[in-house]
Amino acid sequence: MAKYVYSFNEGTKEMKNLLGGKGANLAEMTNIGLPVPFGFTITTDACKKYNDDGDKLDQVIVDEIWEHLAELEEVMGKKFEDNENPLLVSVRSGAPVSMPGMMDTILNLGLNDVSVEGLAKKTENERFAYDSYRRFIQMFGDVVMEIKKAKFDEIFDGQKKKVGAEVDVDLNTEDLKEIIIEYKKLVKNELGRDFPQDPKEQLLEAIQAVFKSWNNDRAILYRKLNNIPNSLGTAVNVQSMVFGNSGNDSGTGVAFTRNPANGENELFGEFLVNAQGEDVVAGIRTPQPISEMAEAFPEVYSQFAKVSKALENHYKDMQDMEFTVEDRKLYMLQTRNGKRTAAAAVKVAVDLVNEDLIDTETAVMRIEPSQINQLLHPTFDPKDLVKLTPVAKGLPASPGAATGEIYFTAEDAAKASAEGKKVILVREETSPEDLAGMAAAEGILTARGGMTSHAAVVARGMGKCCVAGCKEIIVNDTAKTLTVGGKVYEEGFNISLNGTDGSVYAEAVNTVSPELSGDFGTIMEWADELRTLRVRTNADNPRDAQQAIDFGAEGIGLCRTEHMFFEEDRIPKIRRMILADTEEERREALEGLLPYQKNDFIGIFKVMGELPVTIRLLDPPLHEFLPKNEVDINYLSEQFNIPHDKIVNKTTELHEFNPMLGHRGCRLAVTYPEIAEMQTEAIISAALQVRKEDGLDIVPEIMVPLIGELKELEFVKKTIVEVADKLIAESGDDMKYMVGTMIEIPRAALTADEIAEEAEFFSFGTNDLTQMGFGFSRDDTGEIIKEYVEKGILDADPFQSIDTKGIGKLVSMAVEGGRKTRPNIKLGICGEHGGDPSSIHFCHNVGLNYVSCSPFRVPIARLSAAQAAVEERRKG
Ligand code: PEP
Ligand code: MG
Repeated sequence: MAKYVYSFNEGTKEMKNLLGGKGANLAEMTNIGLPVPFGFTITTDACKKYNDDGDKLDQVIVDEIWEHLAELEEVMGKKFEDNENPLLVSVRSGAPVSMPGMMDTILNLGLNDVSVEGLAKKTENERFAYDSYRRFIQMFGDVVMEIKKAKFDEIFDGQKKKVGAEVDVDLNTEDLKEIIIEYKKLVKNELGRDFPQDPKEQLLEAIQAVFKSWNNDRAILYRKLNNIPNSLGTAVNVQSMVFGNSGNDSGTGVAFTRNPANGENELFGEFLVNAQGEDVVAGIRTPQPISEMAEAFPEVYSQFAKVSKALENHYKDMQDMEFTVEDRKLYMLQTRNGKRTAAAAVKVAVDLVNEDLIDTETAVMRIEPSQINQLLHPTFDPKDLVKLTPVAKGLPASPGAATGEIYFTAEDAAKASAEGKKVILVREETSPEDLAGMAAAEGILTARGGMTSHAAVVARGMGKCCVAGCKEIIVNDTAKTLTVGGKVYEEGFNISLNGTDGSVYAEAVNTVSPELSGDFGTIMEWADELRTLRVRTNADNPRDAQQAIDFGAEGIGLCRTEHMFFEEDRIPKIRRMILADTEEERREALEGLLPYQKNDFIGIFKVMGELPVTIRLLDPPLHEFLPKNEVDINYLSEQFNIPHDKIVNKTTELHEFNPMLGHRGCRLAVTYPEIAEMQTEAIISAALQVRKEDGLDIVPEIMVPLIGELKELEFVKKTIVEVADKLIAESGDDMKYMVGTMIEIPRAALTADEIAEEAEFFSFGTNDLTQMGFGFSRDDTGEIIKEYVEKGILDADPFQSIDTKGIGKLVSMAVEGGRKTRPNIKLGICGEHGGDPSSIHFCHNVGLNYVSCSPFRVPIARLSAAQAAVEERRKG
């Protein structure tokens, strides 16, 4: 028979899918003897059943809940429905994958108008009892009854104002009682029913609300942003309450075993005396640093420090913990692997290896490739910074630098970002409703909340710069203004945030590229030892090539020569070539371009040394180079003495309805072989010159684009070989060179065995292969694809992450065909997918020799390639 409820002593940390992350870890902590308030977990299977049954809790599940409640009563020595000494519980969601702030928590469940008095008597603390009850009504009202939280806040803040209370703890028992009366009135007005007084009814309603909240909009959005399957479901944890709000000997906190911003090995977190958990996480009161707990509760602090170390040693990873102190006794409420910035992830992984807790392979597997971006992203130019003074300083909640226009609501921020603006979201504090705005923003600034507030946690997860708890600013989201130092800044004003030190600047600030730490280099070295896939870069100039080398690139997989023609001094020359009427005129124009091309290649060869360099012949349709406006046309007409009308006519003549399928790629070299001749001459003579000057053994790789038929390649290759062999013979050098092709037309993939007769290497152009294989225009279908993803027709944008089923099949067929004809054929990929982690896994699995990607994605590719190799080995 299915089992839907597990007591904490029945589970283990391995049971995440069934018990959720929180439930599995509560069970684990219970079993290793840590002080965990007892409780039970209702499984994700129960959630699935609830959803499948049309939002109904089956009696079988209800019965099991009552059985486990009875056990809990026995363990705690208290009764759930007792009016004198009531057992109170918390009800929390806990999905298999951590979803911070997404699901809701209810504390103090079981209280009612009568038992609150019992609790007051029993604890001899009336204020505490009523404070607990008002919190419960508020949380239950918000989460279960779906009454807007702001309405409760209005009542609460109104009372504070009325009695002149500065902070929550200034409210006395009578104030709390008044608040409770108002809260209950609010419930009655909103729902036409009384606040439920039966604890069992409260419990079942709360459990169902958690199951329902799996499908609320922000949970769905979070899952979408983080690729979490909807099918997982959430578990519910019912745990006996311990009270951090029972006086000044109590408190609550959240802490990491190491610093989640920079990875330093130190307890890091926050603590609030006389408070309950949600006060810390919601950023309602700004908490004290955890180190101050050592002064307030020295014994508890040292016990907590020991528990944290024990947890870290047990889980062999940095932990993120929630705890409560009740009357100077420590209780652990949660532990999980802590979310961390990329810098911290790298440092913690390297440190854990040095501490002999994990091996290098585990360390490499711990780093999220997409997170590496954070390390490679710009920071503010220090030269500019010294001249500037911040207008305010908040907490450095998530590192990085951001500049943008200020917007005050998630909606406005998302809208402005969709219009192409760079946006900074400014909020009093954020909540899960702000997720879309946070995702759209470059950076986030909040006036309230600490390092573990919603804004801080979510921003770190997203890798976004965030300054939180900036007390000096006043945010007015009705007037849409930010006031600081007496100055008022309106919506659209440019500010800058430094998430690494918490500074806020009232102006735009320039940014510079980052430098990588020694630990990063160590992780990359370990990754390099594990991977079998090589990593090259797509670069068309010496600067990018150097950047890629600095990031560890092992060659150039694609040099797009057309990019060299777009430079200001060259574009008139290529236009001259296109406008030529005869071959002779065309050759003359190409002669003018030759020295430029040759010098470009010399620069690239010098930077790359003996690393392989693949240079592709001209690819795009010629009309891309034609003059775009009257100024260009007049300039060209005067410069080369060509009649204005002739230029206009030629432009019309070259117009294509489907340029992506028209006069481009190898078709240019077939119709105008002189272009391929000039480019070959530039490549070969540059390589010969650098070999001679620098004594380097350079073997250039010449790549022909857009081949669909073997004979096309034969034709173009003949041109290349004639020019190359002649130059080499004349030089007296014995330089080798290779001729290969892109595989980017489906027909080429299907006939790869034939094409390999002429091609010494293949490079998969998966941008075009996706375009032509899927029939999606690269330039026109962005919005359609977005909608397809939203509607679940596609899992992901196939231009970002390779469609393994269809386009991937074309790739694997071509790999097989190519290797059948030429076993040693070199196979790589140079489409955008070469820098996408999941596509890199595919490339590894299909047996490519290398991936090639833009310079900034090289480290991501090195790491992903290593992870793919480890995964393959682990699968056996
Ligand atoms: C490709 O098609 O994948 C490719 C790399 O070429 P381009 O993007 O230049 O068309
Ligand atoms: Mg292409």
